[in-house]
Amino acid sequence: MEFKYVIINFILLALLLFLVGRKTVKRIFGARYERINRELDEAEELEKLSMPVFEPYVPEAFEPDVTEEAMRAKNTVEEKIAQIKDYGIREHSEIHREMIEDARKELFSVMKEHVINLFSYEKYKGEIKALDGAVIDAILEKIKLTPGDMAYLKYHDVLYVTLTSAFPLEKEIVDRVDAVTTKMLEEVGGKTSLWVLEDPSLIGGLRLRIGDTVYDGSVAEELYHFEKNLNREPIMETDTEGQLIQEFSERAEAFKPHIHIYQLGRVMSVSDGICWMDGLADIMYGEVVEFECGERGMVLDIQQNRIGCVIFGEYEHIESGSKVRRVGRIASVPVGEALLGRVVDALGEPIDAMGYLPAKERRPIEYKAPAILDRAPVNEPLHTGIKAIDALVPIGKGQRELIIGDRQTGKTAIAVDTIINQKNKGTICIYVAIGQKDTLIAEIKEKLKVHGALDYTVIVAEPASASAALQYIAPFCATAMAEYFMYEGKDVLIVYDDLSKHAVAYRELSLLLHRPSGREAYPGDIFYLHSRLLERAAHLSDELGGGSITALPIIETLAGDISAYIPTNVISITDGQIFLDAELFNEGQRPGINVGLSVSRVGGAAQNGVMKKVSSSLRTRLAQYRELAEFMQFGSDVDEQTRRTLNSGRLLNEALKQGRYRPIDDYLQALLIFAVSEGYADGISPDEMERFEAELYAYFTAEKAELGQRVKNARKLDDELRGDITLALKEFATRF
Ligand code: ATP
Ligand code: MG
Repeated sequence: MEFKYVIINFILLALLLFLVGRKTVKRIFGARYERINRELDEAEELEKLSMPVFEPYVPEAFEPDVTEEAMRAKNTVEEKIAQIKDYGIREHSEIHREMIEDARKELFSVMKEHVINLFSYEKYKGEIKALDGAVIDAILEKIKLTPGDMAYLKYHDVLYVTLTSAFPLEKEIVDRVDAVTTKMLEEVGGKTSLWVLEDPSLIGGLRLRIGDTVYDGSVAEELYHFEKNLNREPIMETDTEGQLIQEFSERAEAFKPHIHIYQLGRVMSVSDGICWMDGLADIMYGEVVEFECGERGMVLDIQQNRIGCVIFGEYEHIESGSKVRRVGRIASVPVGEALLGRVVDALGEPIDAMGYLPAKERRPIEYKAPAILDRAPVNEPLHTGIKAIDALVPIGKGQRELIIGDRQTGKTAIAVDTIINQKNKGTICIYVAIGQKDTLIAEIKEKLKVHGALDYTVIVAEPASASAALQYIAPFCATAMAEYFMYEGKDVLIVYDDLSKHAVAYRELSLLLHRPSGREAYPGDIFYLHSRLLERAAHLSDELGGGSITALPIIETLAGDISAYIPTNVISITDGQIFLDAELFNEGQRPGINVGLSVSRVGGAAQNGVMKKVSSSLRTRLAQYRELAEFMQFGSDVDEQTRRTLNSGRLLNEALKQGRYRPIDDYLQALLIFAVSEGYADGISPDEMERFEAELYAYFTAEKAELGQRVKNARKLDDELRGDITLALKEFATRF
């Protein structure tokens, strides 16, 4: 019985919800629906006035009738609006995006159809003929020989000239082209061979190719640029289709053929993400090329009769013999504040499902490192918040400090903790994941977010599944992003995780490019590759704004072998290394920093005065302890002095242990090390160290906050300060 009432209640409730909910949805979408309709009507009017008019060339009679297409566009909008109602509010932005994208495609195809209709053969006989004459005049004004053509003429005496048009050409035009090009080549002692072709895919207008350079005045080319610019436009939340149609109409109105100049080449072969091409006479190293299928690549090899490039995307659709064109710029990435808090791939495209990335500027991925005169000495500390590092291997802004160790020894952990420690310090961080697992990248992003560090961090990720080409360019791209901030006068920390995998990706590319291989099959220029990258880290002089890039490259070793090829290379490029010992790490000494093998060659100058004093004897004491401890394994009879050294060494080691995601302020670190090395913790057992540490920090941040601040700001540890600290510590020790 009761059950029946429950069901009835439930049905009533559902009915009520449906009635109330429907109203709300109607209210939300009603206004929008009306607005879109209104805008559509306006746009329709506008569109009638403004479909493609080829001003200089096409007479009035060609003005198209657009009502039918406008109706079609409107219908799709209505369908889409109906769809939105189906989906509900949650997925709104996604549908909106799709909707605008589809509308763009639709509008473009409508326009294309129109344009094709405009250039029918019947019409050709009349007015379009005049267009050919106008285009060829414009082209002949622009032609000249490029350095690539001259080089070609050195070995061949004939340069090929091809004149392609959509419709049969007048003899007068062909003769004119022949005369002008022959004259141009005769001046430099060469000959031409003119070919005249017909190609309906040009739609209208014509195209002249001299050597590898194309002077393109065709309608197809203009449409290509039109579509490219259209797709490049960001889609905003506030975009409506009405707006889109209006903008589109405005642009379509301005549509008229220009002469586009570019260079073409031909694909010879494609394999494993590498493409060999010929043609492209004047191409430069590092330039971007575009294949017919839309994929892009970057030139990495220029030989006399062929050019090698890496392909960024899918290479399955690139056919041998297909065309490839120069895009006309060196590979570059978007840079700027918009990247902060985002995860992007090596090309700067967002991969975090957070939508459009509004970066305004771009920088080339390869850039000259600052010259000696542009640099200032490294003299400001960059605190990692990790006791063992800030005390023993301090890092300065502009320094390059290598983190090296076997797999699973906490390398990434150190880098991530350092990023977290930059919170509220004004340092921008860039984490570059090269060949890492996707899950690890996601985890790092999550951790940074939880600790409030994502807002000032950019993650550049090319996971293990990415192509070698993308893994290879990732650190260069990330450095370009860092350079933007550095030249703005900001401090940047960049972590390359890790360069061993980067070297492997480069080896793969080099082998595929058939470059001679050297030691361990790495190419001969692997050292140059990494030094070119790391030299871009610098502390700029004040005249240049005083910004800095601090680099933390990571290298993975095999069985602790730091004398292998890649490790020795990178060690010799950097200003020091933090060596992580797998044995220490497994013993529970975490972070497992090997004090004997870790150094910082410039960071000492950047250390806080108190820390410098406190940590000066730390390294020797730890080394002494290690040595004794090893020796002690053979016997247990020791004198009082040795026992004391052992004991305090053990405590010091214990004090340097630190968990993840727990960065500690520099001055607190100094106070802890001072307390332990001066014997204030002597009575306690190693297990109690954690509590001792926590209480000491609490003591100096709450009760003795004023003294804490003095230590923080002190330039050096003078007698007065030392006296005050000693007094405070005595009180603390008696209480503990
Ligand atoms: P890989 O070679 O796979 O890149 P890695 O050297 O970068 O490894 P991490 O991934 O940083 O090592 O750390 C390995 C493991 O050790 C992780 O599970 C991490 O949580 C743990 N770990 C690292 N540092 C500490 C620490 N200070 N305290 C406790 N655990 C730690
Ligand atoms: Mg790692």
